[in-house]
Amino acid sequence: MSSLARATQSLEREGKTCEILISEERVLARVAELGREITRDYQGRDLDIVGVLKGCALFMSDLIRSIDLPLACDYLRVSSYDGGTESRGVVRFDLDVSQPVTGKHVLLVEDIIDTGLTMSYLLENLRTRHPASLAVCALLHKPARTIKPVPIDYLGFTIENHFVVGYGLDYAGRYRNLRHIAKLEDIA
Ligand code: 5GP
Repeated sequence: MSSLARATQSLEREGKTCEILISEERVLARVAELGREITRDYQGRDLDIVGVLKGCALFMSDLIRSIDLPLACDYLRVSSYDGGTESRGVVRFDLDVSQPVTGKHVLLVEDIIDTGLTMSYLLENLRTRHPASLAVCALLHKPARTIKPVPIDYLGFTIENHFVVGYGLDYAGRYRNLRHIAKLEDIA
């Protein structure tokens, strides 16, 4: 049985349907393109990639292998969702970067920008530490849900207002290991 079929079965028991939105092939091709764009734009600069855990894990691991530059990786973690499908609108640092970002060329890597509250908080916070430059790379963006608009320098895909799982994104802690991006819907 495929991982999608297994996920579909288990989600049905929770009253949800699960359908592929972006295939593994499309995801990987786009991530490789983003890597090429970043490689081109950051020539001659040392890059500090800062991933927003936990959703960035799969995206970031593929992205950094597509970037042909000297780079360092760090991670931070904030909470903005409570394991469900709705934002609490509250952002809190659970884990900060392990190295100072002052004077560095920082690229923040995020799985999805939904309301924009998390990213706008992170940008504001990191700017106070005076990086040499600060840019954003997001795999997904849901413009229909925007509360705080944020600049996205590198974007994988724009999607409609779906709740999505897979390729690092979870629902109640699960389904991060799906290779594609799938949309969840309540069974009518
Ligand atoms: P924002 O602050 O932009 O509303 O939300 C950012 C965070 O919410 C993302 O990093 C992600 O963890 C979570 N999130 C937003 N939309 C989705 C979604 O469709 N699926 C999943 N799994 N998480 C989401």
